[in-house]
Amino acid sequence: MDVKNSTEKQDLPAGCFSSWLRQIRSALIKENGIDVLCGECKACCTSSYFIHIRPEEIQTLKHIPGKLLFAAPGLPKGNVLLGYDKNGHCPMLIEDQCSIYEYRPLTCRNFDCRIFTAAGIAAGGDNKAQINQRAKRWKFTYSTQQDRDQHSAVQAAAKFIQEHAQCFPAGEIPGNPSQLAILAIKVYDVFLEYDDESDKTGHVFPDLKIAKAVMKANEKFETQHVSSPSSPQVK
Ligand code: SF4
Repeated sequence: MDVKNSTEKQDLPAGCFSSWLRQIRSALIKENGIDVLCGECKACCTSSYFIHIRPEEIQTLKHIPGKLLFAAPGLPKGNVLLGYDKNGHCPMLIEDQCSIYEYRPLTCRNFDCRIFTAAGIAAGGDNKAQINQRAKRWKFTYSTQQDRDQHSAVQAAAKFIQEHAQCFPAGEIPGNPSQLAILAIKVYDVFLEYDDESDKTGHVFPDLKIAKAVMKANEKFETQHVSSPSSPQVK
């Protein structure tokens, strides 16, 4: 399918779910970016996102005027944010093209709006309408029952975390939809396991137990990280 010339209504091929899940989890660990069939879409550059840039992204920082950057709240010194203009557009988007594409921030390289399709959640309100529309158009394929089970588990994870915030310590629950979708992708296997167990035994696990398992799975995922401590890197 030629994504570049696809109409706004046409479904977009998101790929086989289990392969995509492996790719996005690997990209989250290695932070080496992920290939997304964006075509002409610039929704993530025009949707009022603050772009986090780390001190070690020297080439990126060299290509962005300092006056466009400000200190990232709550992160170590040297971490900065690139804001957006009154229309929600990234100031580096010039004539509908990223003017620093070769040096674009890791946050941009790691961003994949299929996370919202995978988690079954919206990217946000009106200022994220383009991303919401794009996320609705992505269609994953399922070559095996495992693909379907994994997708259901990611969605179950997102739903549980959203609906059981009280089961988590303060500050443990992600503050925005991108971070929530990414957490669901990191801990989906907890819900594969519990669903399986419940199906076999009919036992319903207490919410607190599931919440504890979610935090444990997230900690385990984070131990695989290969980059510097000053994450998060999501939009
Ligand atoms: S730096 Fe480039 S890719 Fe990143 S949001 Fe701005 S225009 Fe888009």
